[in-house]
Amino acid sequence: MISPNSDWISCYVGLGSNLTNELGTPAEHLRQAIERLQVHEQIMNVQSSSFYASAPMGPQDQPDFINAVVSFKTRLTPFELLSFCQSLEQRAGRTKLRHWGERSLDVDLLLYGQQQIATPVLTVPHAGISERNFVLIPLAELAPDIIIKGRAISDYAQSQDWTALKRLDL
Ligand code: ADP
Ligand code: MG
Repeated sequence: MISPNSDWISCYVGLGSNLTNELGTPAEHLRQAIERLQVHEQIMNVQSSSFYASAPMGPQDQPDFINAVVSFKTRLTPFELLSFCQSLEQRAGRTKLRHWGERSLDVDLLLYGQQQIATPVLTVPHAGISERNFVLIPLAELAPDIIIKGRAISDYAQSQDWTALKRLDL
């Protein structure tokens, strides 16, 4: 029998949305995901960064995204957490339209404690973490001192183009 993970691990997830559907606007999709993290029994201490508007990555003929990063502690394993993240996407009515295209909710597992994971379904730290302004700038609000590949998050964030991101009062 696999013993349950009894340690509470510090995790960070990135949220993004640029599609309104019958379940909500982009900001509402983010808020609902945060509420669902807050009520999960194996998740505690949920904190969100500010919400930011950012230009889309990939195809440019789509609306701007709203992004945030959320931190929490969890007793879920990395793969259980990935599947919970994917269930949040499903509950926001996500359907795959095109690569890097519009979506009602994207939930990416950015960091799971100090763990490094490289499998076909899960890479942690998330592959894009050190170059995406819409991840680094909100992540730096919550965890400026975390070191990835020898460099602090605040340091990565400083070298981003901050004018490309608009902090929202939501
Ligand atoms: P993207 O986030 O790159 O736009 P998707 O959200 O469609 O793309 O995710 C594609 C796949 O990425 C998922 O099926 C998942 O298995 C994989 N994946 C690998 N590492 C991660 C991670 N750290 N967080 C979320 N998904 C991941
Ligand atoms: Mg994703």
